[in-house]
Amino acid sequence: MQGYRTIIEPFRIKSVEPLRLSSREEREERLAAAGLNLFRLHSDDVLIDLLTDSGTGAMSAEQWAALQRGDESYAGSPSYFRFERAVRELFDFRHVIPTHQGRAAEKILFSVVGGPGKVVPSNTLFDTTRANVEASGATGVDLLYPAGRKPSERHPFKGNLDVAALERVVGEVGASKVPLVLVTVTNNSGGGQPVSLENLKAVSALCERHHIPLFLDGCRFAENAWFIREREPGQHQRTVADIVREMASLADGMTMSAKKDGLANIGGWLALDDDGWAERCRNLLILTEGFPTYGGLAGRDLDAIAVGLREVVQHDYLRYRTRSVEYLGQALEQRGVPIVVPVGGHAVYLDAAAMLPHLPPLSFPGQALAVELYREGGVRSCEIGSVMFGRQPDGSERPAAMELVRLAVPRRTYTQSHIDFVVEVVEHVAARARSLKGLRIVEQPAALRHFTARFEALG
Ligand SMILES: *Cc1c(COP(=O)(O)O)cnc(C)c1O
Repeated sequence: MQGYRTIIEPFRIKSVEPLRLSSREEREERLAAAGLNLFRLHSDDVLIDLLTDSGTGAMSAEQWAALQRGDESYAGSPSYFRFERAVRELFDFRHVIPTHQGRAAEKILFSVVGGPGKVVPSNTLFDTTRANVEASGATGVDLLYPAGRKPSERHPFKGNLDVAALERVVGEVGASKVPLVLVTVTNNSGGGQPVSLENLKAVSALCERHHIPLFLDGCRFAENAWFIREREPGQHQRTVADIVREMASLADGMTMSAKKDGLANIGGWLALDDDGWAERCRNLLILTEGFPTYGGLAGRDLDAIAVGLREVVQHDYLRYRTRSVEYLGQALEQRGVPIVVPVGGHAVYLDAAAMLPHLPPLSFPGQALAVELYREGGVRSCEIGSVMFGRQPDGSERPAAMELVRLAVPRRTYTQSHIDFVVEVVEHVAARARSLKGLRIVEQPAALRHFTARFEALG
């Protein structure tokens, strides 16, 4: 609405889910049983769940209606063709291969193009992406633009890839060792920060010069395109859909989790132009996911995604989406809580290293902070720091670049008063942050340890 300051939720609520309030004693018990790992909690013991924005959003009435249209034919379902058309309206790649979620697309892609000796450069590989690159035997290299590594530095496109560093890496290892460059939009692990069109163009030109395919990790493509429209000179007159199409035109393929900007609860895809790669990917798909026209999804899921893709590029939605996340960030900043600025598209990232300066990275300040937010107010968040990234493939420990706690905001799910409550909880914890104790890991798996590790408080 023109002339009004308040950006309202552009929807009303038709169906509600109750939230259960718990006592501090209950939460203390739940934490102990979970080994201080918030992924191990039962979600009905969580009041406000900001663990992730992945698959946790609300679907629209149109999406629920689309579920009824879902056609569950094994092969050639009309649901697939509606899905394929919706994907290709935005991302006009020759092959669109549905998968049950983003990591399945990654697993298939890197099984085909990865392997020992290969190097996959990126602005920042997301955790599952890095794990799938490494599982193939390849090495992932994060080449984030320097501003992106400084939580307090304001820059409109902190997700940009450092093009000079990419040129250097390609020169060092040789283009034949680089099967593709992967640009993550927005950069989830680096704070949900966008990549500019200018940067994508520069990366694309470099890739073309070296005959290296460019792929997008497109999970939050619409939020990224909205930031381009808002922040990049000369882009404001364009529609987001048009900007997305240009982003796609600069790339040769993409991986996608429909649990983010697909506005769906499950799903994903791998899309690409190369016929040879696509054939090998489809053969792997059949081994583990399913026939190429459903790829591990029900027909109704494909229909929900098709509708979600048309809703996610609507400007009223994206204005509300980015504004509501920014609202949380600004409220925390006003209370002196250090966060990554500017606020990204899907989450506010608390700077745990700045809030808990008394804790060294390998006593996991981010995890200690996340645990305390749950203990205080039943708010579940996610550490993005040395728990997630500290363990190296050889088993050694190395501090992550940043110690962050992510407050991810599910799409179209919480109201402003829920967010106001979260602000209060963080404020209470921030006031006593310097008295929080560090943690140590008492049990962990070999890879992706943050999902299942158990912790213990240091004395
Ligand atoms: C969520 C996510 C993935 C993985 O997708 P899943 O659907 O969770 O498997 C990959 N990359 C980024 C940037 C993500 O945010």
